[in-house]
Amino acid sequence: MFTDNNEQKMHLTSKIMIGMLAGALIGFILRQVFPESVWVEDYLTNGLFHIIGTMFIACLKMLVVPLVLISLICGVSSLSDPSKLGSVGGKTIVFYLMTTAIAVTIAITFAIMIHPGDATLSVETSFAAKEAPSIGQILLDMIPTNPVKALSEGKMLQIIVFAIVFGFAISHVGSRGVRVAEFFQDLNEVVLRVVTLIMALAPYGIFGLIAKLVLSLGMDTFESVAKYFFTVLLVLFIQGLLVYPTLLKAFTGLSPSMFLRKMRDVQLFAFSTSSSNATLPATFQTLEHKMGVDNKVASFTLPLGATVNMDGTAIMQGVATVFIAQVYNQDLTVAEYLSVILTATLASVGTAGVPSVGLVTLAMVLQQVNLPVEGIALIIGVDRLLDMVRTAVNVTGDSVTTLVVATHEKEIDTKVFYDIDAGEKELDIEQFSGNQLKSKSKKKS
Ligand code: ASP
Repeated sequence: MFTDNNEQKMHLTSKIMIGMLAGALIGFILRQVFPESVWVEDYLTNGLFHIIGTMFIACLKMLVVPLVLISLICGVSSLSDPSKLGSVGGKTIVFYLMTTAIAVTIAITFAIMIHPGDATLSVETSFAAKEAPSIGQILLDMIPTNPVKALSEGKMLQIIVFAIVFGFAISHVGSRGVRVAEFFQDLNEVVLRVVTLIMALAPYGIFGLIAKLVLSLGMDTFESVAKYFFTVLLVLFIQGLLVYPTLLKAFTGLSPSMFLRKMRDVQLFAFSTSSSNATLPATFQTLEHKMGVDNKVASFTLPLGATVNMDGTAIMQGVATVFIAQVYNQDLTVAEYLSVILTATLASVGTAGVPSVGLVTLAMVLQQVNLPVEGIALIIGVDRLLDMVRTAVNVTGDSVTTLVVATHEKEIDTKVFYDIDAGEKELDIEQFSGNQLKSKSKKKS
């Protein structure tokens, strides 16, 4: 039996799916019918589809800084007990590190078992590695010397630090603070409404992104690294469909199938944008409105997770390290594997969740165990697709941790979590404008 809301829910999710499939289909047909057509390339791949997709990602990115800043200030300023911040922070960081360490350990184990690297592969292209930041530098970079600059440059960790200090101060200045807190709460509502507006564009944006991807994807190097590709994919699926549901059940008792069902939109966003950061508006909506997590927890764990917790990326790095070692015929010792786990876990800290950043931090992991960084050139050709899947895993990891922390802090409304229709009203832009019209027409009659 479908309620009104249920139909609307189907409506939004299926619209996104249809956009995605239509993009893939049109891209595929154009590719087959007009191979190497300059017209298609100029006017569609780098024209229409590029513009639609890029505008959509720009709209999402436009929201990230205001969303994180305002939401986190709201969350921290509403904490009645400031020591809670320490307990939320501690649990979040421990869980983030733990899930990443599990992910990379599984990745290394499978890569050793499957042995994707063939020593006869030759590395023809070169890869210039960027200098990876040191842990000390990451810590120094967390404090914004100029918060406005941090906001304008979208430096997530700096924004988080500033928002926490600011929110904390608001809760400590009595009645004046109450006024300021109320102001930010109102502002938060407005930002969430903008999120709703942008989410309505998702089917079209995702159509453009996928159509462009299918048209421009070069798979020449695929055959030689197919085994690597499928090993990464396999471990990503194990993490997403086995490890996370198990952790969720064990640490919260919540239903994994309800969780996966409600995560669908967020995963589609992550898959098509390849960016945990750009997916943040969707992750916020889902965790707070569809799963009932209180803003106090979600406003801290989600932006932090989008920045520092990249389990999917760590999986790619674990498999890639073993793969490159095999191609270069170098045996890694147990100590070196442990150091890969440690470095891959730490490597994602301080780098934003943006497309392909995992390749940059992979250089850091390879250097740690004295493997040639040029090996990255081998896997770069298939990284675009893997980036999409691992970003979906990254955001799923952030969400599981958020639910675990929220459950332990008793900051989750499980009624909302189990309500299949929860949060759909907020997402339904047509209903929003419909309500305005209805109230106007009621007044008339
Ligand atoms: N694209 C990933 C993310 O934003 C990071 C990466 O693996 O490159 O989460």
